[in-house]
Amino acid sequence: MNSKKVVFVKDVPVGGKYPVVIQSMTNTKTEDYKGTMEQIRELYKRGAQLVRVSFPDVNCQDSFKKIVKDSPCPIIADIHFDHKLALLAIKLGASKIRINPGNISKKNLIEIIKAAKENNVPIRIGVNGGSLEKDVLKKFKYPSPDALYESLKLSIEFFLENDFDNIVLSIKSSDVVDMIESNLKLKNLPFPVHLGVTEAGGLLRGSVKNSIGISYLLLNNIGDTIRISISDSPLYEVDIAKMVLSSLHISSNFPDIVSCPTCSRTTFNVISIQKDVEKLVENFKGKIKIAIMGCVVNGPGEAKDADIGITGSGVNGVLFKKGRIVKTGPINEIIKSFYEEIKNYGKQN
Ligand code: SF4
Repeated sequence: MNSKKVVFVKDVPVGGKYPVVIQSMTNTKTEDYKGTMEQIRELYKRGAQLVRVSFPDVNCQDSFKKIVKDSPCPIIADIHFDHKLALLAIKLGASKIRINPGNISKKNLIEIIKAAKENNVPIRIGVNGGSLEKDVLKKFKYPSPDALYESLKLSIEFFLENDFDNIVLSIKSSDVVDMIESNLKLKNLPFPVHLGVTEAGGLLRGSVKNSIGISYLLLNNIGDTIRISISDSPLYEVDIAKMVLSSLHISSNFPDIVSCPTCSRTTFNVISIQKDVEKLVENFKGKIKIAIMGCVVNGPGEAKDADIGITGSGVNGVLFKKGRIVKTGPINEIIKSFYEEIKNYGKQN
């Protein structure tokens, strides 16, 4: 969405005028073909457009080969240290590979570049605090945003000297401010940028850290693909990514749910209904705005642009669409109709 250059990961364009691409990563053992495929299918159904799979050793090669063939979306091989694994992943059909060039010798990098070029496989150049070259670390003393940027710049120069520009850039840090500051330095580079806060923590903390870092950069026109990294189910990563993109109005093709924070005026169980609605729309691809407002003081008025909304008045419920009341009655009946409307909306769109 923000870079000058476009990179194609199989048939998925990243960068240029194309929308921000959502990616996630499996946390199954890659040797476990069945478990990994199940997770990839779930991630894809949920909205992931690219899925990264670890390629830790040669034991996963048979499974990886089948995964690449059977996956509904392009597969990125995640490689560390061993250039032979990168060569093998390319040979087995990886649509993109991710390496940290700081961890691989120049001689071996040249071999990877050659194979990637021959197979038209893009490479994500990853830089993080643990992958800095000795010289860079000596110069900057610690993995500061300047050090991370310097390391990435050296890698980019090396790839370009070797006549390879099919690259995606990434600088990751578990510190949100460092992640933002280092990525801001990428603004004038032409290559697509992968955004994420690494090792961000659990569901709640990780969501907050990733959302802050990624949103700040996207609003500053930096970033072409995003991965939310959390210590929890990768399915949440995709959900959070969709929420970030729709909250920023970068993609309107996802559901949006507005629900009030509840207070002493609340006339029905807003919190449990909100949770039910999140479940109803979890695999929903398409635009819909749903409102759950605890009382008529603020709903439907404050949610008049919602496609479908519910509010309560005394013991009665009110169902509304685009600010217009379409049904009133006992709250339990209205809740049932509300769920039906959402399901039908999902079928129509
Ligand atoms: S919509 Fe009504 S119930 Fe919900 S927080 Fe506002 S005043 Fe309270």
